[in-house]
Amino acid sequence: MPDAVELVLDSRSILGEGAIWDEKNQVLYWVDIDPGLVHIYDPATRKDRALQVRQSVGTVVPRASGGLMLAVREGFMSLDIETGKTALVAVPQGHNTENRFNDGKCDPAGRFWAGTMETPTSKGALFRLDRDLSVHKMVDNVAISNGLAWSLDKKTMYYIDSMTRKIDAFDYDLMTGAISNRRTVVSVPEGYGLPDGMTMDAEGKLWVAHWDGWCVCRWDPATGKLMQNVRLPVARPTSCAFGGPALDSLYITSVTTELDAAALAKQQGAGGIFCLKPGVRGLPAFSFAG
Ligand code: CA
Repeated sequence: MPDAVELVLDSRSILGEGAIWDEKNQVLYWVDIDPGLVHIYDPATRKDRALQVRQSVGTVVPRASGGLMLAVREGFMSLDIETGKTALVAVPQGHNTENRFNDGKCDPAGRFWAGTMETPTSKGALFRLDRDLSVHKMVDNVAISNGLAWSLDKKTMYYIDSMTRKIDAFDYDLMTGAISNRRTVVSVPEGYGLPDGMTMDAEGKLWVAHWDGWCVCRWDPATGKLMQNVRLPVARPTSCAFGGPALDSLYITSVTTELDAAALAKQQGAGGIFCLKPGVRGLPAFSFAG
């Protein structure tokens, strides 16, 4: 049985997202999308600091050559965490900034995948930023681009477009970054909200944050079955990532957005970072290799 869920940072973010563990520095990166904040949380000291990047920021990943990479409203951006200096490094061709970037992650070869949100007049997409900073549109007709994960054998990519209420899989080519053969591996039942952020554990199972589902769930992509459901004190978890020295802590971001005072009163710690020890370890996150 998992330990109790603990509120480790009462940050009251508007739209917390993009949790990812930096193994080298033993800190958790996460973002607050709407105010454009990139956060660095150190569990050893319980201190958090935030850097302002002056536009909405959907996700953050460590960069092998130093600093961080972000998916922001305009495209892909680098961030120097010592100086706070940012630089827009790549913009998808024809990118409409009304379609802001949301969740994203690096693949095992160090390519940075991040997707956008649809608007009433323009669909979102999933993009891939390669090491040479070229951008490739990989999935079209996306509503809300969210969780990404790669299988232990690096042959399958898992992907969540939240509005489909499904976890889909693609055949994934590690050498080229090509994906093919899209199919559904998990269909989320009624009562579990929308699947949102996702991470993989060391046993090859998927941990998914369920927006409006009050839970994070462990799904088996081989069978499509629910393996574990951990209830949260908040309705809208958005992303989850394993961290800690032993990679045995699951960190979860959450939101206060669109919650009125009555709803917030029922959600202790909404917008904060939660942590639990689910009894299984995670995997080190991949960094951007470019
Ligand atoms: Ca998310």
